[in-house]
Amino acid sequence: MRRPKILILGAGYGGLMTAVRLQKMLGQGEAEITLVNKHNYHYQTTLLHEIAAGTGEEGRICLPIKEVIDVGRIRFIKDTVLEIRAEARQVILCHSGSLSYDYLVVALGFESATFGIPGVAEHALSIRSLNTAKRIRNRLEKQISAYAASGTQGEPFAVVVGGAGFTGIEFMGELAEQVPNWCVQYGLPRQRIRLISVEAGPGLLPGFPSVLSEYARKSLERRGVEFCFHTRIRAVDARGVLIEGQDGEKRIEPATVVWTGGVQGNSLVCGSAFPASRGRIPVTPDLRVADYDNVFVIGDCSAVSAPGSDRPFPPTAQMAVLQALSCARNLQTLVRGGKDLEAFAPKLKGAIASLGSHDGVGLIMGIPLRGKMATVVKAIVDSRYLFMLGGLRLVFRKSKLSAGISG
Ligand code: FAD
Ligand code: NAD
Repeated sequence: MRRPKILILGAGYGGLMTAVRLQKMLGQGEAEITLVNKHNYHYQTTLLHEIAAGTGEEGRICLPIKEVIDVGRIRFIKDTVLEIRAEARQVILCHSGSLSYDYLVVALGFESATFGIPGVAEHALSIRSLNTAKRIRNRLEKQISAYAASGTQGEPFAVVVGGAGFTGIEFMGELAEQVPNWCVQYGLPRQRIRLISVEAGPGLLPGFPSVLSEYARKSLERRGVEFCFHTRIRAVDARGVLIEGQDGEKRIEPATVVWTGGVQGNSLVCGSAFPASRGRIPVTPDLRVADYDNVFVIGDCSAVSAPGSDRPFPPTAQMAVLQALSCARNLQTLVRGGKDLEAFAPKLKGAIASLGSHDGVGLIMGIPLRGKMATVVKAIVDSRYLFMLGGLRLVFRKSKLSAGISG
């Protein structure tokens, strides 16, 4: 009998975890599994702010995909997905032609939502992938060294971070740690570099209890970060940025803008035949797309709401991993001829925002965390993910906890 073909697109949090689970849950003869990803490595998106600021090492957040999948069980194709032809059950790749499938798992992640703000797409940098994060680090260091070499007359050089959600704040935490090092390296007084967080809303880390967001604000302000609340990024160009706050419009120049103002699902997925809503694909409780009962969408491309609510859960790695576990169980049921799929019911643990390597804030199972404790718990969460992917071996090789133990 022909084995059903399962095709997984994307090897980020959602796609790689689905693949690793399926290789354990299905017997060799039960399905033909293919995983496609742009690169032959997996990167931990949750640590990209460290790469973007130059405080983290690429080797620690990346791992070769073939080290975690069983290549005897899963065919891995390094290629870029160009198109999903859902009616024909086909996926078109950039170099390797087309692939057909019986079951499709779409896990192609996110891209920046620019909301049409002039110049953001062209001139602002964004933390989207390992390569964009490395570009930010290189650009910032190059600009700061050029500014130092120019004699630093006139206005200070500003790094403006647009959006004080989790990404913007975690990135600021790393920058506050890194910029003093660059100042020493290039002979600049620290006051000649401004770190400015611009946030449209009334405060940072929206949705977090105010006692925690206040802690985060004070921690960052102590290290020289300036906050502009009730202020929007209006336009970005090659030299600087136009912001608008309660006092009207203002230009900041010279400045480099890092845009962390929001995310949406990969436009390749949202521009496909699947019906998208606000940049994500709404899925049924069993994580499939309405009218396409052989297609699962998980991770940041999907919009999944709690029963009785029409507000989707925020897109997080925690959510992508939980969706992957549920998706793998549902695929196992389908491959074995079952019809009763489980409804996705995530038990979310909370969230932690790092504020550099020694400080953080979090709310885990209702318990507020601050300071070093938050960073330790964040490292434990990260290690748990590595354990689920590749067991203790991967934890010892990659986790911050093991780095702490060994050095
Ligand atoms: P991703 O993990 O982004 O994976 C998508 C994969 O698809 C990538 O491997 C990519 O290369 C591949 N891909 C994309 N397009 C193509 C294509 N056309 N062809 C082939 N392959 C392609 N969430 C948390 O829960 N906790 C955190 O602490 C946290 N920290 C974060 C910090 C930062 C700086 C950022 C940016 C996000 C953070 N998040 C965090 C959110 C979290 O990273 C995302 O929700 C999560 O990565 C989503 O997983 P995913 O599998 O949908 O996408
Ligand atoms: P976000 O949507 O959560 O935050 C974007 C922020 O930008 C908002 O506060 C918004 O008010 C602001 N903004 C939007 N337009 C603006 C403008 N024109 N000018 C100024 N400010 C503007 O986006 P994010 O921080 O990238 O997070 C994306 C997802 O990833 C979220 O679900 C988040 O929870 C998750 N995430 C989690 C962690 C963590 O758990 N540690 C870290 C990073 C991201």
